[in-house]
Amino acid sequence: MPETIFSRIVRKEIPAKIVYEDDVSMAFHDLNAQAPVHVLVIPKRQIDSLEHATEEDANLLGHLQIVAQKVARLLNIHETGYRVVMNCGRDGGQSVGHIHYHVLGGRPLAWPPG
Ligand code: 5GP
Repeated sequence: MPETIFSRIVRKEIPAKIVYEDDVSMAFHDLNAQAPVHVLVIPKRQIDSLEHATEEDANLLGHLQIVAQKVARLLNIHETGYRVVMNCGRDGGQSVGHIHYHVLGGRPLAWPPG
């Protein structure tokens, strides 16, 4: 699949408000925040969606969840709670074809989603 805007953010060709970065992942504020805290956690290497992930990506996906926890702690929503969501495909509401977790918090979040 062609690369997305997220690869350009990884290469720092376009700006993003980066919260956390390591060798394999990056976390930055969502441009269109849906909650007081809305951060995207992505692998630097593009995987199009969860449907495109393989067993070999399992460690990386687990790492992204631990990064989500770090983000929650850095942005001080870890005590009140937060939601970590991954959208997959059309019906899942995925709009960017580079796998990512959303970390949302800073207000009570409704369930179930629409
Ligand atoms: P999805 O809909 O694929 O689950 O989530 C994609 C998210 O990426 C959306 O919440 C959208 O607001 C965010 N987004 C799209 N383009 C950009 C961008 O250029 N910069 C940042 N920071 N977020 C973006």
